[in-house]
Amino acid sequence: MRIDVLSIFPSYFDGLTLSLLGKARDSGLLELHVRDLREWTSDRHRTVDDTPYGGGAGMVMKPEPWGLALDELATGASAVPTIIFPSPAGEVFTQAKARELAAREHLIFGCGRYEGIDERVFDYAATIGEVRLISLGDYVLNGGEVATMAMIEAIGRLIPGVVGNPESLVEESHEDGLLEYPSYTKPSIWRDRAVPEVLLSGNHARIAAWRREQQLERTRTRRPDLLDG
Ligand code: SAM
Repeated sequence: MRIDVLSIFPSYFDGLTLSLLGKARDSGLLELHVRDLREWTSDRHRTVDDTPYGGGAGMVMKPEPWGLALDELATGASAVPTIIFPSPAGEVFTQAKARELAAREHLIFGCGRYEGIDERVFDYAATIGEVRLISLGDYVLNGGEVATMAMIEAIGRLIPGVVGNPESLVEESHEDGLLEYPSYTKPSIWRDRAVPEVLLSGNHARIAAWRREQQLERTRTRRPDLLDG
């Protein structure tokens, strides 16, 4: 999979050289390119924002650098890209969306800043690829970088081969619409707290039944909305 990121703060993404995604990049499973949007400016101050038409607080990202950047990323691309703009006004990101996007060949993330991006950019981007406005949740961040990092991590770990044991992906929270069961490791008693006896029993059927019960109970108490759908 190829991922391109456009941001005015490319160093946010330095952390993606670490851990599983760092290994995925080293092994070629994930090709990640982070580009500074200011590369596509031509004035002395490398300006990417301007005042909003109609007035109002804050600045809006100018369309020209976005248009040039998208043109360049699309030129010579082997697949039609999916262009994701993180936005608090977008569809909410879920595990199901991570899975859907993990099957794409080429993703482009456009990180907004200030009051957001000139609306015409989304329209233009739709002539280049499939455009998705995706929200991390119902709150407002300062920019799209943290949302993009979260999405890249959720999508990246679903690329076959990135997570060593694929079974660990199947049992995770949200994969089957439920939260994951609680996990324990050694020692069996820690600060007067014992591991549930069933997990020490060696009885795989009882353990599976207990874990399922725990998943349902956790989901019922912590996220009843997941059971409504
Ligand atoms: N004025 C915009 C609004 O009310 O919808 C918010 C702009 S926000 C300060 C700047 C940028 O942060 C957005 O363009 C977007 O890229 C990103 N952002 C903020 N909150 C987000 C969220 N919940 N999910 C994804 N991206 C978000």
